[in-house]
Amino acid sequence: MQLTQALHKALREKPQATAVVFGERRSSFARLHNRVARVAAVLRGLGMAPGDRVAMLAMNSDHYVEYLFGTWWGGGAINPVNVRWSPQEIAYSLDDCDTHILLVDKFFAKQVASLRDLSRSLQTLVYVGEEPAPEGMLSFEDLLAAAEPVEDLRRQRDDLAAVMYTGGTTGRPKGVMLSHSNLYLNGLASAAAVPRAWQVQALVTAPFFHVAGCGLSLQMVLRMATQVVIPYYEEVAVLQAIAHEKVTETFLVPTMVKRLIEHPRFAEFDLQSLRMVLYGAAPIDATLLGQAMQALPGVQFCQAYGMTELAPTIAVLLPEDHLPGPDQAKRLRSAGKSVPIAEISIRDPENNELPPGQVGEICARGPMVMQGYWNKPAETEAALRGGWMHTGDGGMMDEEGYLYVVDRIKDMIVSGGENVYSAEVENALAQFEGVSMSAVIGVPDDQWGERVHAVIVPRPGADIDEAAVIAHCKTLIAGYKCPRSVEFRTELPVSPAGKLQKFVLREPYWKDRARKVN
Ligand code: ATP
Ligand code: MG
Repeated sequence: MQLTQALHKALREKPQATAVVFGERRSSFARLHNRVARVAAVLRGLGMAPGDRVAMLAMNSDHYVEYLFGTWWGGGAINPVNVRWSPQEIAYSLDDCDTHILLVDKFFAKQVASLRDLSRSLQTLVYVGEEPAPEGMLSFEDLLAAAEPVEDLRRQRDDLAAVMYTGGTTGRPKGVMLSHSNLYLNGLASAAAVPRAWQVQALVTAPFFHVAGCGLSLQMVLRMATQVVIPYYEEVAVLQAIAHEKVTETFLVPTMVKRLIEHPRFAEFDLQSLRMVLYGAAPIDATLLGQAMQALPGVQFCQAYGMTELAPTIAVLLPEDHLPGPDQAKRLRSAGKSVPIAEISIRDPENNELPPGQVGEICARGPMVMQGYWNKPAETEAALRGGWMHTGDGGMMDEEGYLYVVDRIKDMIVSGGENVYSAEVENALAQFEGVSMSAVIGVPDDQWGERVHAVIVPRPGADIDEAAVIAHCKTLIAGYKCPRSVEFRTELPVSPAGKLQKFVLREPYWKDRARKVN
């Protein structure tokens, strides 16, 4: 079983169907198949041996899809580079997993000049784009034009397919090793878990360097469906692409959902074709979810929960769980039920399974669990102890198998011996008129150990102050969970994948002392 199998099938069964749309450029599966076979030839010609990592530093494009499949076809493993990293961080990751070849597009060509000095392992720079390559770089298009398609190396299922770095939400990203079958089986399980009664045409808005973008792209090839690609998430581009290409579904992280529905031009576009919004990768507050469902009537909503280490989705909250009914409010707080291949268990610190209703660490096992963290044996052993992938997320499961993610364990606040889940407090804050966004963190407190502190971005022109915020929370949640202090800001730090980086907010408070994590 190898990931390129999906392309072979598509070539046989749907050669003329559109595989990828990027601006004016359209590739059928036949064209994609042919280019992938030549990308593989180019990479082999540049010295890629089976198992070798090949990096790409680029915005999303059709060429990114060719890079993914071309690397797999030639026997290599993808090593996508986070576009927000500094040259030092890029060099760190290239050296960390000993990557010799880097593909780079016009957005980053200038930035890589310094990489030659910074990175020990980097040997070959390839410019991906239609323009002539800058000096010192090979031209991807020239190499492709001269290349003859090569045979697919057809890797085995346990062979390395990717070294993908985690989101960096909680600190320095880790290189996650995923095999062909990790990605393949997860893609199939996610597709099987969420049946669609229509011909799928998806818009990829998440970055390809993140497993959410890459995973959606892969799933479209597995479904032999069209993927519409835009260079990066931007509200008008997203709305235009949906309207213009008759997109049926897209995946958005909660911050993107919010920005999209609040965009002043949101109502201008014809979004009739849109059938489903998939969301996830970070907690969504119930207020925002309700607003999104109202803003997009007739569109189905589906939540995905997962992580890079699990390739990525292990639970989904299906569209029917979002529908009005006696259980709706409760269901909308859940991340849904396990996908067919994932076994989910809530476990205590001694690795014993906890009964339904009790909060512990969300753990998972099954054929989608990563092979380990690259070059980090201790972290790998800790994450995979006892045969379970420990997600670092706190959660519980109810009698019916619905999973509830309460908080990242690192973000839980212990105040006066009581556990406070920051997500619950943020949910209460979201119900306050004047609050646009919030992040709740634990800050040191001599009396309570930690104190609940809220960082709030007010809505423009809102009449809001600390006392009003605290009074509002007291009407919704227990006193010990309410913020004891509030700070107002114009924006919050988010990761390249659009997730709140609470460690950045915590840092100044904890500079001089160690924070105990549960
Ligand atoms: P890092 O591990 O580098 O700190 P990260 O954990 O954000 O970054 P990812 O693998 O992209 O990297 O994200 C996985 C995490 O995202 C999960 O562990 C979980 O905390 C969060 N997450 C994903 N989906 C959901 C969801 N539906 N609801 C709540 N949280 C989610
Ligand atoms: Mg993580």
